[in-house]
Amino acid sequence: MGIEDEITCKEIVELVTDYLESAMSEPDRARFDRHLSTCRGCVIYLEQMRETIRLTGTLTEDSLSLVAKSNLMSAFHDWKREATSST
Ligand SMILES: [Zn+2]
Repeated sequence: MGIEDEITCKEIVELVTDYLESAMSEPDRARFDRHLSTCRGCVIYLEQMRETIRLTGTLTEDSLSLVAKSNLMSAFHDWKREATSST
């Protein structure tokens, strides 16, 4: 696995807590940021995770899986619907 490997949306979900806690290595963080610059769904997901942390004061495994299951799916759903809309 090289530094130029593209990160995937699945990895974003797995790494988001490390990212938000600044517990990520610089190369990984750079890859994370690069994915965010090209993937709106993950930007929305990250914003929702930040909002969850602000509301709850912390990010537990339970809240993470809850948000991941509900919000990520709706975020990607909305994103795709927007992207295909021609209005
Ligand atoms: Zn993504």
